[in-house]
Amino acid sequence: MPFQIVAATRNRGKLREIQSLYGDLPLMWRPMDDIGSPPIIEETGTTFQDNALLKARGIAKWSGFAALGEDSGLEVDALAGDPGVRSARFAGEHASDKENIALLLRRLEGIPRAERTARFICVVALVWTDGTEVVAKGTCEGHIAEEPAGTSGFGYDPLFIPEGQVATFAELGETFKNTVSHRARALRGLRPWLEGRIRYAGRAPS
Ligand code: IMP
Repeated sequence: MPFQIVAATRNRGKLREIQSLYGDLPLMWRPMDDIGSPPIIEETGTTFQDNALLKARGIAKWSGFAALGEDSGLEVDALAGDPGVRSARFAGEHASDKENIALLLRRLEGIPRAERTARFICVVALVWTDGTEVVAKGTCEGHIAEEPAGTSGFGYDPLFIPEGQVATFAELGETFKNTVSHRARALRGLRPWLEGRIRYAGRAPS
């Protein structure tokens, strides 16, 4: 019987990456909207970790299942770390990916390649049914392209060129992204704990 974990996100791109990175583990990922009407969890934290924990705790309490919260975003050095925790809302409360990308390019107009350095950051927080909380962080360094390219992924993927590459995440595709991304690294950090739980459950008498 697989463990059921609620993914505290409405972002289908993130959910797809989580399912793919943990595809070999006996886990059943339940999108929170498939369980009922989840509460709106305001991202009032000032750090990725605060927000990831807010989401995981809120959804674990509401659903009664273990829950995985995830908060991520893009830090651009030339913008003093913006858009950061406001990455999804950079161009406004309900901004589309296209609007966020357009604003980022406007803010970076005239800034040369060497100064367009940036990183994606992801913090994942797991709240288990016994109340245990586990947190892991991943980062991915790179730079911001002059114009969007590629169709894979979501968010700022068409603008982000990871270190050592000449193409964006959106051009490189999901298989490549899942080897080096901030989310892949954060989820890898959480993995030993999850594997331990699975092993323990396998040994425990039913
Ligand atoms: P939140 O974690 O729901 O606050 O949203 C994070 C936002 O950061 C997303 O809406 C994207 O704009 C951006 N972001 C986070 N991770 C990625 C990624 O892997 N690719 C592209 N954009 C991302």
